[in-house]
Amino acid sequence: MLGAPVRTVCRRRWRGVACAAVAVLAITASRAAAQRVFPGTTRDTSATTRLIVLGSGTPVPDPERSGPAYAVTYGTRVFLFDAGAGVMRRVAAAGLPIDGMTAVFLTHLHSDHTLGLPDVIHTTWVMGRATAMPVIGPVGTSAMVGHLQAAWVEDVLIRTEGTERGRRGGHRVDVRETTGGVVYDSAGIRIRAIPVPHGAWPLNFAYRIDTPDRSIVLGGDTAPSTALEEASRGVDVLVHEVYASTRVAPENRPGGELWPQYLREFHTSDEELGALAARARPKQLVLSHVLRMGGTIDEVVAGVRRGGFGGAVVVATDLARY
Ligand SMILES: [Zn+2]
Ligand SMILES: [Zn+2]
Repeated sequence: MLGAPVRTVCRRRWRGVACAAVAVLAITASRAAAQRVFPGTTRDTSATTRLIVLGSGTPVPDPERSGPAYAVTYGTRVFLFDAGAGVMRRVAAAGLPIDGMTAVFLTHLHSDHTLGLPDVIHTTWVMGRATAMPVIGPVGTSAMVGHLQAAWVEDVLIRTEGTERGRRGGHRVDVRETTGGVVYDSAGIRIRAIPVPHGAWPLNFAYRIDTPDRSIVLGGDTAPSTALEEASRGVDVLVHEVYASTRVAPENRPGGELWPQYLREFHTSDEELGALAARARPKQLVLSHVLRMGGTIDEVVAGVRRGGFGGAVVVATDLARY
């Protein structure tokens, strides 16, 4: 799989800036590592895997929690998973390169997971990115990136043709659409996209990351999934979304009677997660993207315990490392 050719289709409609791979096999990690960090922060390039929560939030604009985003780093490689609102500020705060990642992976195209994508694309360029950045996601990612590139076409023109003298082409993105399977396999790190159910979304992924020293599953947004459970068996860290089962009720708004059905079809309750984790037995369960709906975190953790999980469980906070 390593370095296998990828059939790529470039869409000229957006001046060739977005390319979509119809069959994703692997990415050859050949580009030079991005290095620039925000002044005053220190970059950790040790050969130890770090999982850094960049955003533990939901669509709710909680000032304490940015939109969903996680970084997994190993040596000089930085992998970004989802790009919620506020992502580049958290990247800077974490001491991660602000001029580009090794690759960006999207779980799905819900806005709370992608509102920061234009931030990632354009800010990394303005901070010095010179090469196309791989963005891996479900079918539809290419169209989304194309629309984003089109939205900022005037900005790109002014930054490159004007006195800023921005690097030509540095804003480019190499989109690779996948339907699941291994999406990165290079120098000891393998990343696999696992299709998991998320209501009406035709394609939605969890990701499993295996490095020389750790195994991590990032569940993304998902209803209870046997595929995710299987992939999470005995992993070092499972990051999983959750909602408070005791707070499920119709909402007082037009269409609010469908809210319980929406939760069941799109997400995982605390008790369901507790049961799943009890079977999968991750060494560490990290709750993130928590829909409390007026409840407390303690209520959610109690629900996980009622579900049957007796192992280590923590609630993610922004910039926490696992
Ligand atoms: Zn979602
Ligand atoms: Zn979400």
